[in-house]
Amino acid sequence: MFVDQVSVYVKAGDGGNGLVAYRREKYVPLGGPAGGDGGNGGDVIFKVDEGLNTLMDLRYNRHFKAKRGENGMSKNQHGKNAAPLIVSVPPGTTIMDEDTDQVIADLTIHGQEAVIAKGGRGGRGNSRFATPRNPAPDFAENGEPGEEKNIKVELKLIADVGLVGFPSVGKSTFLSVVSAAKPKIADYHFTTLAPNLGVVDTGDQRSFVLADLPGLIEGAHQGIGLGHQFLRHVERTRVIIHVIDMAGTEGRDPFEDYVKINTELKEYDEKLMTRPQVIAANKMDMPGAEENLEKFKEQLGEDVPVYPVSALTKDGLRDILYAVADLLETIPKYAPQLEETEEKVVYRYQKEDKGFTITREDDGAFVVSGPKIEKLFKMTDFNREEAIRRFARQMRSMGVDEELRKKGAEDGDTIRILQFEFEFVD
Ligand code: GDP
Ligand code: MG
Repeated sequence: MFVDQVSVYVKAGDGGNGLVAYRREKYVPLGGPAGGDGGNGGDVIFKVDEGLNTLMDLRYNRHFKAKRGENGMSKNQHGKNAAPLIVSVPPGTTIMDEDTDQVIADLTIHGQEAVIAKGGRGGRGNSRFATPRNPAPDFAENGEPGEEKNIKVELKLIADVGLVGFPSVGKSTFLSVVSAAKPKIADYHFTTLAPNLGVVDTGDQRSFVLADLPGLIEGAHQGIGLGHQFLRHVERTRVIIHVIDMAGTEGRDPFEDYVKINTELKEYDEKLMTRPQVIAANKMDMPGAEENLEKFKEQLGEDVPVYPVSALTKDGLRDILYAVADLLETIPKYAPQLEETEEKVVYRYQKEDKGFTITREDDGAFVVSGPKIEKLFKMTDFNREEAIRRFARQMRSMGVDEELRKKGAEDGDTIRILQFEFEFVD
């Protein structure tokens, strides 16, 4: 299976800081609080663009940072929210948290989007903290930090076009010469056990994903049920390239091959017969191929386009690739009648809130860490007495003080949060 994988760092915007300000009115000597809230930081959003079919763009740019929200302003004015940062990805992209391997989002349909890193909430301005007991609070909140994480972006390529045909007709060779894929090629059967995929660049700004599929007949011979796996992939393709050994290298009749493979497809699912087919009359470089082709066309008699090619000498490949690209343009992305029915779920990753943990370092300092306590810390403006007192209250209500005491902290001991230190006051 062709899987494209890229590791990426995403950081959502921090919220803007809340403001400490007071009303200044002509006849009001001591105005009330009037500091506005900060704006929200921008989310990092991944969005499906069906025009893409690889993760190439992510390879060149592995850091995605959204902007922070604007700080709050006087007269209770909110700072502006930051616009989200939109990252375009192809359909079929899965996004996982690199540390936990948890799936954050499965993006399959054009236009579908998922918030991968949530922007921080804007900090509240001082007017929001006014109470009857404290009508003019002298502190505001800093913005909440935006989420940041390392993610793994994975794309399982969904084939637009599938190669079908008897073993050894040249399917793997065909794929290897029209794409960068390196499938096993051999003149014995059963070489292709799992589908190989490659991106075909037609050379005129168009591209599609081509799958070399293990044949039904190959699998059936081995009795390992590969046929099913093979057909599941055919279901998703929008165009079928039916490869035929026009030289009859193995003594079979080309037209009989064509009929047999179609019968297999039909028996699996009648609807596969409506899937447009293009015939690659392969091995035209071999003696006898020309005469066979003439006969084949007579027997065919139906309206299926036939392209004489040689995967070996590469003759005729351009014409068939253009024809396939033209055909794809007329067919909507997911063949609707065979579309998977199961609802795709978008998971929103939620970090488990552990609150805090306390550890002791060699120098005797107590280290308080954890997402919740660190977030509260970052949202505190330590330049203001009242803000510090509020943080102390928040720590107490979370049970940090009690836990510190339990762990043996005494008056004057050093408490560390992130890169800052305090003195424990009991
Ligand atoms: P697959 O089983 O359909 O994938 O067939 P392969 O791609 O493995 O090819 C089977 C054999 O046919 C290999 O030996 C190829 O080199 C050979 N072959 C493939 N395409 C051509 C062609 O256009 N001309 C000739 N002469 N041989 C070919
Ligand atoms: Mg093969």
